[in-house]
Formats: sequence, C-alpha cells, structure tokens
Amino acid sequence: MTLPDSELPRTEDEWRVRLSPAEFRVLREHGTEPAWTGEYVDTKTPGMYRCRACGAELYPSDTKFDSHCGWPSFDDAIPGAIKEIEDNSLGMSRTEIRCARCDSHLGHVFRGEGFTPKDTRHCVNSLSIRLDPNDV
Ligand SMILES: [Zn+2]
Repeated sequence: MTLPDSELPRTEDEWRVRLSPAEFRVLREHGTEPAWTGEYVDTKTPGMYRCRACGAELYPSDTKFDSHCGWPSFDDAIPGAIKEIEDNSLGMSRTEIRCARCDSHLGHVFRGEGFTPKDTRHCVNSLSIRLDPNDV
C-alpha cells in the first residue's frame, strides 16, 4: 500500500493526476474539508491510518479519540511520521501537520486542550488519510 520512493510524485502536476480533485485540494493545496463531512469522523474500526497520498503509516487507530470537533482526531502519531510547520494564515497562529514522507497536508495540531492524557489533538482531514483495517 505504500508508494515506493521511485514512484513518489515530484511535481504538483504528477500529484494532480494521482489524486482526486478533492484529495488534491486538501493534500497539496492545504485545503480543509467541511466539518462532519469526512468519512472517518466517527470511525472506530481498528487498523492503521495511512497517508492517502503516499501510503506512509501515520496514526494507529488506538490514538483516535472523540473530540466532537467534526474531523478525525488523534492524540499521537507514529514517531517521525509527521512534520510540524508554523502556520499564520487566516490571521491565526496554528501548527500545520504534514506527512513527513511526501510533504502532503494533513491538518493542524493543537496542544493544551486537555482532551486526553497526552493533551494533544491532531485534527486531520479524512481526505488526507486512508484506514487500513486490521485483518479480522
Ligand atoms: Zn505521505
């Protein structure tokens, strides 16, 4: 499921043909899907959430929690899978999160909200991830 390095797109035009228009807008143009519309908002299925662009493992399903914010939320990630970037767009000071492997936009990370003992909320677009369910 993971895209080999040799097949990773190198230009936005290569990404555009590989992704759907909605996926491209979120992953490569830093878009945000409307709250409560994503396919994984309420998903409880065990498995591994991978980057929808390159297939890298990002979030084990046991880090997912109910934040009631309208987007899938995780309080931890696979070590090294995520990179954080300061984002001062829209007049807000936020921390953007991207896939460390392919630099695709995932969402934003918030800390100090007290949702879980890890006190971290990765607020991720469903369009940025794909659940790889555990074999049952
Ligand atoms: Zn990726």
